[in-house]
Amino acid sequence: MNDSKERINVTKTFLPPLEEFEPYLHRIWESGQLTNQGSLVLEFENKVAQYLNLDSTQLVSNGTLALQLALEASDIRDGEIITTPFSYVATTSAIMWQRCTPVYVDIDPQTLCIDADKIEASITSKTKAIMPVHVFGNVCNVEKIEAIAKKHKLKVIYDAAHAFGVQYKDSSILGQGDISICSFHATKLFHTIEGGLIVATDKEIGDKVDLIKRFGHNGDDHRTLGINAKASEFQAAMGLVNLKHIDELIAKRKKAASVYDYLLNTSKVHPVRPRGDIKYNYAYYPVLFNSEASLKKAIEALAKKNIFPRRYFYPSLNKLPYIINAAHCPISEDVSLRIACLPLFADIDKSTIMEVSEVLQ
Ligand SMILES: *Cc1c(COP(=O)(O)O)cnc(C)c1O
Repeated sequence: MNDSKERINVTKTFLPPLEEFEPYLHRIWESGQLTNQGSLVLEFENKVAQYLNLDSTQLVSNGTLALQLALEASDIRDGEIITTPFSYVATTSAIMWQRCTPVYVDIDPQTLCIDADKIEASITSKTKAIMPVHVFGNVCNVEKIEAIAKKHKLKVIYDAAHAFGVQYKDSSILGQGDISICSFHATKLFHTIEGGLIVATDKEIGDKVDLIKRFGHNGDDHRTLGINAKASEFQAAMGLVNLKHIDELIAKRKKAASVYDYLLNTSKVHPVRPRGDIKYNYAYYPVLFNSEASLKKAIEALAKKNIFPRRYFYPSLNKLPYIINAAHCPISEDVSLRIACLPLFADIDKSTIMEVSEVLQ
């Protein structure tokens, strides 16, 4: 029986009922427009802005390009960017693709986000911006980061790839910083197949993003260097349908997470708790093991049951082979060796959660 059991991964992409997607396909066929800021993309951008209570949003082809557009629109093409070593590699690769140098500041062991108290010591005359990450949908020390940025005249670009639906002080966390970006990749909490969202608090920067995401020209008026980061009508259609389900998906994840909370009553693993003062989105269920050896043992035991948690994030980005002279970040390096995200998705079976928890005891 166990051999034929369905493989359980750390996440499972939500696919809406096909009949809800079909009317949007009909709209695309009727308009004949598949991309280039079509009516579904515009409708999606408005609906997401409404949902998050933001002035405006822009849908682009993916979250990584969203980070690169954020830097380019802020005129950042060289210099140093202060960032966190505890993130997905895209945070660092966007910085390096823009020919900037990532300067790593260690993380806070509670939130796993960049330790704001350690940022100032890493600022030099070459520093242009701070790029923190709301890791796993937890929230950075946004007040302290804003104060430091103001004092040193730095831009703040939040990688909020995990933070769709997270609220802090009754507002979407995506309204923070000069720019926040989100990822709508199929493996994320909310998705548009591939996709990224850009939220710029400054209208001028938002307009610049809008220009450079479609080659930097308006008709025959070539105004600046651009790239292609446009989202298609199909991506927007998926987003429009999924938006109708997101509240229910978050509620189901919350329930599943509370079952883990209840069952993981052991000193062998320590769930990473979101800050108590935020409305969390239950995007991930990260747990810290006491040692890398015990993490590896658990992963092996779960693999035998066809259950695959993910070591996430591993390695600590300051240890990437193509990064030279990176700062030592002892907390991030330690955490990244001992952390894994457990399977969490809306329709996960209670029996799977029980199985995982049993193995971890
Ligand atoms: C997923 C992710 C990205 C990249 O988003 P894509 O849409 O996959 O390009 C960037 N940063 C973090 C923290 C992520 O998890």
